[in-house]
Amino acid sequence: MMGTSCSLTVFRRGDEQYIGECFDILSQIEDRISAKRSESEIGRINAAAGEHAVKVSRETFLLVERALEIRDLTEGAFDPLVGRLTALWNIGSGDEKVPSPEEISLLVAAMKRAEVVLDEKNSTVFITERDAALDLGAIGKGYASDVLAAYLSESGVRKAIINLGGNVYAVGSKGRGKLWNVGLRSPEGDGIFTTVSVEEGAVVTSGAYERYFISDGVMYHHILDPESGYPVDLDLVSVSILSRDGTLADALSTAVFVLGRERGTALLKRLDVRAVLLTKEGEIIRL
Ligand code: ADP
Ligand code: MG
Repeated sequence: MMGTSCSLTVFRRGDEQYIGECFDILSQIEDRISAKRSESEIGRINAAAGEHAVKVSRETFLLVERALEIRDLTEGAFDPLVGRLTALWNIGSGDEKVPSPEEISLLVAAMKRAEVVLDEKNSTVFITERDAALDLGAIGKGYASDVLAAYLSESGVRKAIINLGGNVYAVGSKGRGKLWNVGLRSPEGDGIFTTVSVEEGAVVTSGAYERYFISDGVMYHHILDPESGYPVDLDLVSVSILSRDGTLADALSTAVFVLGRERGTALLKRLDVRAVLLTKEGEIIRL
């Protein structure tokens, strides 16, 4: 689900009764926010870009609003309006080619001109440019983990692990003063390069090693620099963010990739967010 494999773990007999509902919730979220589905709410907003506003559910409205707030917080490094660019590159589809510089600069310009008009009262979203579109792929799994964590807590589940393709959320504390240990996967090979300990909350990892293609010896991965429209030139190879707020953690994991080591660490310090970064040279930075 959500373009990846998802797993849920509960620890008390009887708690497994909630797992089915969790997967239903995941599938509903995907139906609402997937930019790849033309019938989803995001798909309909994108299809109406430059033309008219689209009425959406309260949940989707709030998520778009949140995504735009985080765009400001990260000075545009995380930008949910990258949708036409991600569709153009189509990285991870198995059928990629490098787009022409003209196509890319046209879409970057449209994205910069575009505004997202939110009408709170009518719960509508309008993108002012036809050549701009929303893609919540960098925030969706973190958001979904928050929704599932809330559902499980409200159902009385005191301990659970949600893992949505590397977006881990530890629900409830492990108990007896113990912390949850989450392994961070090595960019190359199977093992882990380190572990992090959390009392509770999200550990979200973005890596450029998951989705990419190679053309003429150049590696093109799936995190784009909104300034250039090209995959980010990397000095980090893995970024993990720790936070009670899974939505924020997911968006920040992408943003820090785009910002790189210096500006990324500055942002995390300013926001007072814990993180583990792995540099190209193999240095591990813990914040
Ligand atoms: P993953 O989904 O592989 O765990 P991320 O959370 O970093 O990784 O999200 C990457 C996805 O976000 C891309 O596949 C693309 O859809 C979208 N994206 C790429 N670059 C940006 C960006 N600068 N800002 C916002 N979204 C982006
Ligand atoms: Mg992300």
